[in-house]
Amino acid sequence: MKKNDIQFLKKILEKRKQVILENLKGNSKEIKALHNSVPSDNIDFSTIESNSQINFTINANLKQELKEVEESLNKIKNNNFGICESCEEFIDIERLKIKPHAKYCINCRENLEKGELL
Ligand SMILES: [Zn+2]
Repeated sequence: MKKNDIQFLKKILEKRKQVILENLKGNSKEIKALHNSVPSDNIDFSTIESNSQINFTINANLKQELKEVEESLNKIKNNNFGICESCEEFIDIERLKIKPHAKYCINCRENLEKGELL
């Protein structure tokens, strides 16, 4: 992979990491605020519950993505970025530009979704 491409993807990953961290901070505050608010009737209570449920789900997804972004940044440091974790072939650069924290090449990804891997 070209050095320029790696630098470009590294910037995207670092930016993404910042955005995720900010979102996580914001959501946690919101969850706290929701739990501290006193529901005046049953309708309010169910709204608070479902809102915080949604936030918890978003947080879980964000944390998962953060983990993948950090793993990718580590791979850049260790010079093994952009290599499929399954077949160890290079992941297509066009795919990485869309999803820089991709772990698998497009073929393995498709097999994974069909349940043929893992
Ligand atoms: Zn692969």
